[in-house]
Formats: sequence, structure tokens, C-alpha cells
Amino acid sequence: MQASKLTRQASWVYANSPFWKRKFEECEVTPETIVDVDDAVDLPYGRKEDYRAAQKNNPPYGGLLCRPEQTIHDEGGFVWESSGTTGTPLRFLCSQREYYRTDVNATCRILWISGLRPGDTIAMCWPLTLWAVGHGIVDAARVMNITVLPLGPSYSSSFRVKKLAEYRPSAVMTTPSYALRLVEKAQEENVDLTSVELDRLIVSGEPLPDPTREEIATAWDVGDAVYNYYGFSEAFNCRSIECEYHDGIHVLEDLYLCQVEREDGTLADEGELGELVITALEQRDIGTGFHFRTGDMGRYTDEPCECGRTTRRIDIVSRKDDMRTICGVNVFPQAIESVVLDTPDVANEFRLIHHTEGSLDDLTVLTEPASSTTPDAFASTQEELEKKIEGALGGMTVDVDLVEPGQLDGFDFKADRWIENESGYDSVF
Ligand SMILES: [Zn+2]
Repeated sequence: MQASKLTRQASWVYANSPFWKRKFEECEVTPETIVDVDDAVDLPYGRKEDYRAAQKNNPPYGGLLCRPEQTIHDEGGFVWESSGTTGTPLRFLCSQREYYRTDVNATCRILWISGLRPGDTIAMCWPLTLWAVGHGIVDAARVMNITVLPLGPSYSSSFRVKKLAEYRPSAVMTTPSYALRLVEKAQEENVDLTSVELDRLIVSGEPLPDPTREEIATAWDVGDAVYNYYGFSEAFNCRSIECEYHDGIHVLEDLYLCQVEREDGTLADEGELGELVITALEQRDIGTGFHFRTGDMGRYTDEPCECGRTTRRIDIVSRKDDMRTICGVNVFPQAIESVVLDTPDVANEFRLIHHTEGSLDDLTVLTEPASSTTPDAFASTQEELEKKIEGALGGMTVDVDLVEPGQLDGFDFKADRWIENESGYDSVF
């Protein structure tokens, strides 16, 4: 089924999107040569930076629409943008019909996989803005007779924890870093989060290292019911999520072809780390999800899952956009996050300062002491952290700086922990 859908999708974007017609011609490929999913490696790539350039030169959609813009609006359009964490946001458009047929359909399925059922209540801490993810969740929840508790911006974190305690939803949907931020807020506000008696947390937007997962599960008292959800804007959110076995993220393979590629563009083997390349197989109105290089690094397995589902499962190791190369070492914030969360003497929040002025190329990690840490313990904590982080980064030299508690704000949305050169933070010493 995927092979025939891929062939159809290749013919569709080639015939209808000026952007893709040019790309196919540049690569000297025609859709007829794509007969199996493995042939996808011959296809031109969809890349964020190419879309961005095309939309700049040819606004608003850069020749990526596959149907006339006005026709889509006449049917009732749905507009959204990429979250723009790395540069100018991209613009997307599809008809409402396509939105319900693909995105809402997929979202109902992933909510079901995560264990949500009619009668549940889901607290949505994500915004209903140009970022499309929240819309799909709300519309899918309504289709499924799930009550929505909308707690997106511009509510404050204190307000949100109070509302959670008042309404006691069965599920909360947010980013991993914000789930932890709410825990801190609840402590400040003397709200007992365990009184919410939450069944499950669905987290997304950032990778989920095990220590973060455990910290969230314990603080919210949800047992192992932290569900890692994955998606991105270009392939109309590519909704995918873990089941109750938490052993990889299930891909909805009738809607998305998910491949892992090596750096040389060949297909990685099962279990091998590479870049996720995804094709939305049912995206007709705009061609942004076609053979799209996500920049996210991961691996896949085709082994049937214990839950009985037989779809491909993926494990997201890191988001390439978050990576910096420092002194030849690839530094992912998640590696440092695991160490910070594993060190009881420091709080959960941290920043990474990449110094690149002149001949400098080094890394300083800023973090705060935990409220229980005595000043006498600062020096040894600092030293211990430096050693552990250096270990996690393969021996690279790292400075750790402890700053006054409360200087590092949590993130309401996706965490962006990188700071270039300047720190502007006061050291504890
Ligand atoms: Zn499963």
C-alpha cells in the first residue's frame, strides 16, 4: 500500500507543484521510476531551507501548493506555520476537508493509542495559534467526545496549576520541559499535583530522555503513563505516539512513510541511527511533506510491538536543529539534560553558552543549585557536574557555572537552551 501511495504522491506533486516539478528536473528523476518504497532514495528532498527560500522569492507558498490557492480558500482553508525555532516560519495551507481527512483522523488515532477514551478530559497547555498541533488535538478530542480543558497561552503557569487542581482532568498535553516547570510552579503555589489524580501525560516538541521521563512520571504520580508524542509541521504534523508499552513511537504507516537515512543518502538498516525522512502519503493540497528531511536523528524497528500493532516504530534520539558542533564534538542538549536531572544538588533548568568569539570555541553550562543545597556544597557540586557532563560528551572540556536560583526561567513552549557568547547571568560565587 505504501508503495502505491508513494508512486501516486510522487506523480501528484510533480504534476501540480511548480516547486517539485523543478526539483524532479534538477535531480533528473521522473515519478514513473518510483515503484517501490526503497526507490524513495532517488527522489529529491524536501528541506526547510529550500521551502524558506522558495516562499521568500515566491510568496506566500513558494510554488508548493498542488491546488490553486483560491480553490482551497473557497472550500474553507486551514492555515498554519512552522514553529520557527530555527529561522523564519514556513507557511502552509490546506482545505478543511483535507485537514479532517488526514490530521484530525490521525490525531483521533494517536489519542486512542495513548489510552484516551470518550468521557476523558484533556488539559491542553499548547497554544491555538498558527502552530497547528493544538488545533488537531482539540478537534480530534471533540470528535471523540473527550472534554477539552483549554489552558494554552496567555494563562500564567500559576493559573494553570490551579485550574488543573480544580478541574482534575484525566490527561495533560504539554512539552517535557513545561511538564517539569508546572511541577515547580505547583510547589510554589502549594498545589498538590498528585491530587489531580491524572491518568496520563502526553508530551511532545522535544526529545524525552529517560531521566526526564522518570522525573515527570514521579512528580505527576502517573506510574509509567508518560506518552512520548512526535510530529512536525511540514508533513501536516505526522502524528505518531507511543503505546502503553513505551517501546518506540508508532508511525501511522498508511498516512506516513517513515525512513531513516544515512548521511550518504542510503537507507539505514533496522536499529541503525540516521536522519528521519518522512513522506506524507495523503497530503494533496500542499507538497511540504514530500520526502522531507526532518533533521531529527533516530532509528526504527519493524518488529511487532507487544501491544499487537505491527507498524514501524521509531525512537527519536535528538533533533538536529538543537545540535551544535563544539571543538569537533556534536553536543545535544539532551545529553546534558540527562546529567542535570540525575544530579540532586541542582535544579532542573539549565542553559548552554557556546562561546565562539575570536579563537574561542567552548561550552559553559549554567545551572541553578537546588533549594536544599548549602553554599558549602556549591564547589563540589560544580566539580561533580563538570566531570559528569565531560563524561557524557566524550571527554570534552566543559565549564559549569552555578547561578542564583530563579535566574533561569522555564519554557512555556519548546525549550531553547542555547545562548551565543554572552551570558548575562550572575554567578552564585
Ligand atoms: Zn505498541
